[in-house]
Amino acid sequence: MEVIKQVSTIRERVQALRCSGKSIGFVPTMGALHEGHLQLLHASAKENDVTICSIFVNPTQFNNPDDYKLYPRTLDEDTALLKTVSCDILFAPSPEEVYPPQQPLLQFSFGALEDVMEGEHRPGHFNGVATIVSKLFHLVQPHRAYFGQKDLQQVAIVRQLVHTLSFDLDLVCFPTVREQDGLAMSSRNTRLNLEQRQAAPSLYKALKIAEAQLRQKSVPEIKKEVAAFLGNVDGVALEYFEIADPGTLQPVEDITKVEEVALCIAAVVGPVRLIDNILVNLNEG
Ligand code: AMP
Repeated sequence: MEVIKQVSTIRERVQALRCSGKSIGFVPTMGALHEGHLQLLHASAKENDVTICSIFVNPTQFNNPDDYKLYPRTLDEDTALLKTVSCDILFAPSPEEVYPPQQPLLQFSFGALEDVMEGEHRPGHFNGVATIVSKLFHLVQPHRAYFGQKDLQQVAIVRQLVHTLSFDLDLVCFPTVREQDGLAMSSRNTRLNLEQRQAAPSLYKALKIAEAQLRQKSVPEIKKEVAAFLGNVDGVALEYFEIADPGTLQPVEDITKVEEVALCIAAVVGPVRLIDNILVNLNEG
């Protein structure tokens, strides 16, 4: 596996790959790699000649400075791990390489898509995501880019970005990879102590409780149940639970009028904020 840190080098490398007709799969990450990331890489390796993984803790998408400072950074371990899986190139630039000084930050607007959930609770977050994803897409020029459903709203934003800026690539949304107890894998899970780790699967449990009630109860009743359930779990503070349209991510008021919903949750567990979601097809089951 090649490790590239410079923007100029990744450009040259990608240019050569494209000239020789190779298809490029791309998995952008912030590192502290886990099985969720590895499965994205595996999916890319199956569908492309070359797989490029990026590791970059992107400062512009953190609305909370502590979250940025304390975000786990394990580049040596990640590099060793990537050598054992199907990754051909690791692109791991420094912040200065990606954001030269004095460069003004672009402003994106995604309308209603960013007014809800993560967009509402993390001001500026999706502007930072759109900035870094655009930069990386220009540098890596992938034929396919792999993102996780765990960050459902991010996928919707990136889909909109690809469409609006005419990026010539296919976006692949990969299902959420979970621990055995249901907790969605996340780099932030490493910051949980034992007690917090035991409380964390309650987010997924809350989603499953909501799913079981979708056909019997109204939206406000289900929201109340979820809040009551998590209210009884020590150390977990619910930030939001939403029943949303999976495409537009706007709140669904009347479940009988839609075929599929996304159940989305965010909660603070000890020192970290976790998110999760599940998609439910209302015509099944
Ligand atoms: P991150 O390093 O957290 O920015 O994640 C990099 C990519 O991996 C994003 O597209 C995430 O949605 C995806 N990802 C993170 N956790 C999981 C997971 N548990 N299952 C599937 N994909 C994931």
